Amino acid sequence: QAKSVGRGTIRVFEPEMEALATARSEMERGLRQAIERNEFVLYYQPQIDRTDGIVGVEALVRWQHPQQGLTSPASFIPLAELTGLIVPLGKKVLHMACRQLALWQVCPATQHLTIAVNVSAKEFFDDGFVDYVSHTLNETGAPPEKLELELTESQLMQDVDAAIKKMQALKQKGIRLALDDFGTGYSSLSQIQQLPVDQLKIDAVFVRDLVFNRNDIAIVQTIINLGKALNLDVIAEGVETQAQRDVLAQLGCHKYQGFFYGKPEPAQTLTENLMVT
Ligand code: C2E
Ligand code: MG
Ligand code: MG
Ligand code: MG
Repeated sequence: QAKSVGRGTIRVFEPEMEALATARSEMERGLRQAIERNEFVLYYQPQIDRTDGIVGVEALVRWQHPQQGLTSPASFIPLAELTGLIVPLGKKVLHMACRQLALWQVCPATQHLTIAVNVSAKEFFDDGFVDYVSHTLNETGAPPEKLELELTESQLMQDVDAAIKKMQALKQKGIRLALDDFGTGYSSLSQIQQLPVDQLKIDAVFVRDLVFNRNDIAIVQTIINLGKALNLDVIAEGVETQAQRDVLAQLGCHKYQGFFYGKPEPAQTLTENLMVT
């Protein structure tokens, strides 16, 4: 409820605002506490190549809430980004992913797997980011060439020059870089071409109706051609059906991720399945 108080000013009804602010600061406190108490876990979703073999995984964070149970990132990542808590949370995520990578090195069935980690703008532009990544790789013994960081176009466009510098520093350490949610941002072709990335991830919105929507087919074909021209890997997100996978394959996309191949799951169950197949 808003009430007008004189020329052009809108005053929001105060008790409501207070309630909102209280709820937010309570959530923030809960989130901060959860980070300290290590209540976050990583789930891993397989990434599949054209031979139907698993080549890597994407790490997706979940909050193992003591009362509410397993909570998805949509419910806490936005607040974490707003409050800056994404920086300490992201550090924990990166550390868990690198520890998992190092563990996978000792087993022939998992040695080849890459792990992709999502990185928000606040984390990426944080001054200590590159140092923290290399420190974590050293500390855990994870091989840098098996770590992939997922960035989004829109986040990089906040400051292209600074972003390119950071990306180059990460590339120099041997780390792979991917552009997440590709096709939904507003970067120009000349900007994309400047970015030192290894992989484009076609956003799930273009995959959803791909089988019957000619516009989506045209967009996906364009992204794949762009990948070819710039010598980048292209992976499609949100692949849920055989039909989507087949159209993607026909268009020249050779890596897939989505419920058709597997939902995000704990490392334990993922590797158990790898051992039996
Ligand atoms: P994203 O990086 O684009 O991840 C893909 C999302 O799509 C994941 O949702 C995944 O579970 C979901 N997904 C995968 N395959 C399918 C499919 O076939 N169908 C459908 N309908 N969905 C599918 P999730 O795990 O809820 O993550 C949502 C977003 O939260 C991620 O989008 C990413 O932007 C963010 N996020 C997740 N983990 C982290 C993290 O550790 N750090 C940061 N900064 N962000 C994260
Ligand atoms: Mg991602
Ligand atoms: Mg995505
Ligand atoms: Mg996303």
